[in-house]
Amino acid sequence: MYTSFFDVFSIGIGPSSSHTMGPMRAAARFVQSLRNRSLLSHVAQLRVHLYGSLALTGEGHGTPSAIAYGLMGLDAESMESPPPIPHPLPLGGIQPIDFCPTEHIIAEKNQSLAEHPNGLLFRALDANGSLLDEQVFFSIGGGAVKSRDEMMSQDVPQASPPGLWEFHSCRELIDICAREHFSIAQLTRHNETHLRSAPELDARVRLVAKAMNCAIDRGASTPGTLPGVLHMPRRAPQIYARLEERFRHNETDALTIIDWINLWAFAVAEENAAGGRVVTAPTMGSAGVLPAVLRYFERYGCKDSPFSAEKGAEIMLLTASAICSLYRANASISGAEVGCQGEVGVACSMAAAGLAAAMGGSNQQIENAAEIAMEHNLGLTCDPVCGLVQVPCIERNAIGAVKAVNAARLALRGDGSHFVSLDSVIATMYETGRHLHRNYRETSLAGLAKNAPAC
Ligand code: SF4
Repeated sequence: MYTSFFDVFSIGIGPSSSHTMGPMRAAARFVQSLRNRSLLSHVAQLRVHLYGSLALTGEGHGTPSAIAYGLMGLDAESMESPPPIPHPLPLGGIQPIDFCPTEHIIAEKNQSLAEHPNGLLFRALDANGSLLDEQVFFSIGGGAVKSRDEMMSQDVPQASPPGLWEFHSCRELIDICAREHFSIAQLTRHNETHLRSAPELDARVRLVAKAMNCAIDRGASTPGTLPGVLHMPRRAPQIYARLEERFRHNETDALTIIDWINLWAFAVAEENAAGGRVVTAPTMGSAGVLPAVLRYFERYGCKDSPFSAEKGAEIMLLTASAICSLYRANASISGAEVGCQGEVGVACSMAAAGLAAAMGGSNQQIENAAEIAMEHNLGLTCDPVCGLVQVPCIERNAIGAVKAVNAARLALRGDGSHFVSLDSVIATMYETGRHLHRNYRETSLAGLAKNAPAC
C-alpha cells in the first residue's frame, strides 16, 4: 500500500510521534466523533485508559499532555511549543469538562490490547457519570492512528486512485521505474500529483525541508536542560560553539564533517526531547537523522552532485518518502512493535537512499544504500532510560545519520548490484522485531532502561 509524502512527513511537537502526535490525533478523532453525533454538549467528564507501551512509557514521552491538547481541539502542525492545560478543559475548544491528565488518564501497566502495543480507550461520561460513548484507537507509528474497526479491516485491499502507481515491494518499485523511465523521486512525484496539485506538493516539500532546517537552527542555539528526571544538559549549542571556534582558528581535521553531522542530528533530537517542533522522519524519536543528512547534502554533498542544493533536497525527500512507504507496508515504524530498528533504523535507511538519489545515484544504488543502512541496524532494541526520548535516543540519531552517509557512499562506489535485496532486509527487520522480547520494545523494562543507574 502506498503511503503519501503528506503522511510520511508530519510536522508537530515532540517528543514522540507514537506517544504524543498519535494520541493527540486519537483524542481529536474521538472529539470529532462526539461532535458528529451531537454528544459533545452532554459530556461532563472523560476517562482515557492507556495500554501496553503507552501505559509504560507514556508519562516520560509526554502522552498525557498530548491527549489533553487533542481533546482541546489543538492542531499539532500549528503548535510551536506546548501550551498550558487549563481546568476545566475546553473539550473541542467549547465544552468545559472536569479533566485533569494526571487524574483522568489511567495507565493500565499490566494490560495490552491484542491489536497493537499502543492502545487507547476513550470514555465520555455525562454529569451523572453515565457512559455516553467509548472508542478504542491505536497509535501505530509516525503519528498515524487507527480505530479498532480500521485495524480489523487493514488486510482488506483498498482500491487505489486511478493513475497511481502502487508498489508493494522494492522489486515492484524498481520494475515500475524501469518501465516508465522514472527515478524513484519522479515516481513519488507522479503519485503525489495524482492525489493533489503539483504546486501543493512543491509547497509541502519546501515546508518539510524548512521545518527540518529550522529545528536544526533552534536546537543548535538553545542552551539549557532537557525536561525530565535525567536533567540532561542540551549538548548541541556547546558542540556548535566548539566547531565555530575551530573553524575561526583554522583547526579543521579530516573528520570535521562527522562533527557537523553529529551536531545537526543532536540539535533536532534535543529539540524533539524538549517538546519542540520537528518533522516525523519516519518518527519523532528518530527525527534528527534525515535533517542532519539533508544539511550534509546542502553544505557538502551538492558540490559533487549533478543537482543544485534545492533540487537535491527535493529528490532526497521524495525518495526517502517512497522508502518509508515500503517499511510501513511490509514491516513497521513503531518502536513498540519492532524496537528501534523501526525508528532510527528506518530513518537511517530513508536518509541513505535519499542521499544516494540526491548525489545522482541509480535506482539500484538507491536500493543498495537503503539496504546497507537497515542491514546494520538489525536487532536494534528500544530501551529509553526512564521512559524519556533522550538516552540512548539523542546519540543514536547522530550515529544513525553518520551511518546513513556511509551507506550512501558505499552504494555509490558500486554499480548498484548487491547480494541482499531491500525487500529481504525489510522482511528480516520485521521478523527480528517480532522476535524481540516485549521488554525491548519501548516498555523501558529492560536494556539500558534497567541497567543504567539513573532510574
Ligand atoms: S530507543 Fe529508538 S525507538 Fe526507542 S524511544 Fe529512543 S529513538 Fe524511539
